[in-house]
Amino acid sequence: MPISYARQQTLQGFDSSVTPNWQMVPVGGQRTLTVTGHGTLVPRVNPTNIANVALNNSGGSARLVITGRVAGKGHIEWVPNLDHTGTVAAANKLELSVKAERRIQTAFHYIKDNAGHTTNRNRSDLNTLITGVNAILTTQANVTMVRKSAAVAEVAQNLGAVVRFSSHLEGVAASEHEWDDVTALADSTADFNVFFVWQYEQDATPAVNNTRAGTIASEKNCLMEDTMSSPHAETLAHETVHLLGIADHSAAHQHLIASGAHRNGQLISKSQANTINPSGT
Ligand SMILES: [Zn+2]
Repeated sequence: MPISYARQQTLQGFDSSVTPNWQMVPVGGQRTLTVTGHGTLVPRVNPTNIANVALNNSGGSARLVITGRVAGKGHIEWVPNLDHTGTVAAANKLELSVKAERRIQTAFHYIKDNAGHTTNRNRSDLNTLITGVNAILTTQANVTMVRKSAAVAEVAQNLGAVVRFSSHLEGVAASEHEWDDVTALADSTADFNVFFVWQYEQDATPAVNNTRAGTIASEKNCLMEDTMSSPHAETLAHETVHLLGIADHSAAHQHLIASGAHRNGQLISKSQANTINPSGT
């Protein structure tokens, strides 16, 4: 019977789609998997310094408890005894990435213009939003959004009913190119600048609301609108993944980095987690 794992909770950094299966463990944190099929084999960590492992048998099920110690890449190996010196087959391994926390110091800007347009978001809601983002990113990749600042900021012009990123589009008047007008207010010392606007579009049909937010990673800037059909924390976590190096959308609908039109989950895969937080790879 092959060794198989079942996660105790969803969205905790376990990837069963790769061989060997893969588990992210935060430095100083713990992950638990239910394991079957290991028979009389016992688990050990290789290299030994990155994590501690314990196998707890209770109530007929075996729980593998992994505690991260220092950042690093390695494996849980299932062996006949801890002194085993022979090779260990891939089927008897679980890959580990013990990751240090990657903190994203984020400046939040609540935008208004000089013609009465303003975001309807309130700074009193921000900590809840950040908690929601981190419930997706910290648990799966040990990436943590941190509130660096939060302030109302005025763009001294009329941005209109829709704030547009349009400089990449042909035939759009320069007066419609509003991205730079907003992002001029960025905090250059932040890792990420998030600008809350009332309505955002980045395509040739600004009257059709089909975009929730946009991020230019090289600028470390994101514009995000007020109203959207997906959870706001999910959208901001998605944009943070763009910031941290994944430009393209995944075709897998359950992935956080699937496009908003297709997304039906918040999963971060092994390769995606290792891109947005290279610690322990
Ligand atoms: Zn996207």
